[in-house]
Amino acid sequence: MKKLLTIIASALIMSVITSCDNDDDKTIDTEKPQINASIDGASPANAATFYFGEEIPVKLLLTDNAELGSFSVNIHNNFDHHSHSTEEEGEEHHDHEEGEEHHDHEEGEEHHHHDGEDGDAFQFTQDYTIPAGSTQFLIDTKISLPVKSDDGDEYEGGDYHFMITVTDKAGFSTFKAFEIKILQKE
Ligand SMILES: [Zn+2]
Repeated sequence: MKKLLTIIASALIMSVITSCDNDDDKTIDTEKPQINASIDGASPANAATFYFGEEIPVKLLLTDNAELGSFSVNIHNNFDHHSHSTEEEGEEHHDHEEGEEHHDHEEGEEHHHHDGEDGDAFQFTQDYTIPAGSTQFLIDTKISLPVKSDDGDEYEGGDYHFMITVTDKAGFSTFKAFEIKILQKE
């Protein structure tokens, strides 16, 4: 009899554990967050032009099936017309080799800043937090574009990439790259 009770007790415990496991399975976040750029007044738009001394309005809707984590914005020059895959974050193609070849070829031409990072190309990176528990978050902010760098040199106008990366609580991330122009006002 004691043995039978033990068996029944074990069975009950097992079923409790099993049901807990099932609950966990339902809440595991396996989906990537989404960046919705087709909302009303979404910005930036592909091919939009902005000016140094002004601001880039940022209005994008972030969503996740379970819980959003954070997002970041990066603006860098696209003077070498590289591309970013929008499928997988790991598949980013910066075409460094191609850029370097190109650079060698046109040696001496001052306006080619392929390694932009140390030229007068504008660059911006910022991380933002999202309130805990959010499954959607509307980014509604502005990014100031200074006319000059800290060295006092005017930033070089041209093609830039506006990249937004969103990461959910589970660590999955998605990014979107917008091709924009940032120009100096005449
Ligand atoms: Zn880029």
